[in-house]
Amino acid sequence: MKRSIIVLTGVCMAMLLLLLCAACGTGAAKSAQGTTDTPKNKINTADSKSGKPKASSTSKKDFDRVKLIKMAIKNQKNSYAPYSKYNVSAAVLMDSGKIYLGANIENASYPAGVCAEHNAIDYAVQSGERKIKAIAIVGGADYIVHDYCAPCGICRQVMREFSDPKQMKVIIAVSPTKYKEMTLEELLPESFGPSNLD
Ligand SMILES: [Zn+2]
Repeated sequence: MKRSIIVLTGVCMAMLLLLLCAACGTGAAKSAQGTTDTPKNKINTADSKSGKPKASSTSKKDFDRVKLIKMAIKNQKNSYAPYSKYNVSAAVLMDSGKIYLGANIENASYPAGVCAEHNAIDYAVQSGERKIKAIAIVGGADYIVHDYCAPCGICRQVMREFSDPKQMKVIIAVSPTKYKEMTLEELLPESFGPSNLD
């Protein structure tokens, strides 16, 4: 009887050790996940370089950059670009908190094509939205994100119509952990907007 109790106690100890190890493993996973937060550090670095306050990345009004980028990447498959074969996708986050997606749609009559950013913003605006908080943009040939894809001049002006250029964030991404972030004002300084016509 005593022997079986000892054996049972041994089994319990082994199970406890296993549980402890599992807990350690979870901790490791969490810290590994933590390392994916490094882009935020990069953003802060970029912010300090540009002289912008760092508070934006930790303020209550902050947003999930990784989620926005992932949504843009996932939406790249909806691009229609048989002529350039350059597939662009954008995910635009509005002040309401809603996210709208857009992809570039080309046309045999080339000027009739529309950019991904423009499509995403138009979709948001026709849904009743008026103010952009941030946009994530990805692009690359053959439905693969190869390198950074910055918005064209026309799209920068479209963004200007529905944002505060000092506040709006433009993210151009290669992956959820590799991206550049800047304000619209940095991309489009001395811009012309609705207030010019007041
Ligand atoms: Zn464009």
